[in-house]
Amino acid sequence: MADDRKPMANDGWRVRDHQLSATDHRPLGSGNGLRYERVGALPVYRLDRLNDDPSLVHAIFTRLGGVSLPPYASLNLGHSVGDDPAAVEANHNRVYRALHIHRSQTVTCHLTHSADVLVVTAADGGRIAGRGDAMVTADPGVYLSMRFADCVPILLYDPVRGAVGLAHAGWRGTVKNVAGAAVRAMVDELGCSPETTTAVIGPAIGPCCYQVGDEVIQAVEASFCDSTCLLSRRHKRRAHFDLWEANRQQLVAAGVSQVLVVGLYTACHTDRFFSHRAEQGHTGRFGVVIGYREYVGQ
Ligand SMILES: [Zn+2]
Repeated sequence: MADDRKPMANDGWRVRDHQLSATDHRPLGSGNGLRYERVGALPVYRLDRLNDDPSLVHAIFTRLGGVSLPPYASLNLGHSVGDDPAAVEANHNRVYRALHIHRSQTVTCHLTHSADVLVVTAADGGRIAGRGDAMVTADPGVYLSMRFADCVPILLYDPVRGAVGLAHAGWRGTVKNVAGAAVRAMVDELGCSPETTTAVIGPAIGPCCYQVGDEVIQAVEASFCDSTCLLSRRHKRRAHFDLWEANRQQLVAAGVSQVLVVGLYTACHTDRFFSHRAEQGHTGRFGVVIGYREYVGQ
């Protein structure tokens, strides 16, 4: 079988992707403000402006560079999507290795499509902190980690306070304003200032692919004063919902000084990202990680 001739990676798993050559690392979509590069053995998107800042560890992974088989090929980080647990485990280890962080330093949570925010500390390291859709921390050496496939990843960082946040916003979380709740927690609980905080709206389903029905339309209209620019191509009881713009508006309303919408599409780029909508639910989850590095001996 052709598969048997594939080379082995140094963790003993066969190399699944052939997309990892340097020439293939072109930006996808606009990739506004992001750099597509290789970190360790994995392709990732990272903020251009933070390229020279070694203190903030952050990465938006793709679906490339892992060991999972279709429909989870290949860097699936989701434990509850039906993938081989050993493959998911190997993928997690590749992520930790690429970022030079340890599993015991990462914190994640059970996503529930809420606006619940978990304030996490070093004591939560290596654990699932609880149920919620945003995590914030001011502890260095704590890396927030979440998994996505169409929902909006929102990365937050305040370099003055040395605090970070990570939120997960599908339509339910968006109409509940999980983005605003995450910023409020950083300000109220961690002493951050919205003026020195930057937010990044990462790869998610674009308005082009995100057709929604009555339930979502009504929830959006109830949640936003002016929903006209958020719901386009309205036809009968259908519309296209712009999750990126909705979350951008909420972050601006929360006072965040800089909001970067990177403009990377999941549903129309399943070659690069997992998409729950485009792949009818049979797919994996790509990861996003953010945290300030802990410096020892200074
Ligand atoms: Zn699209």
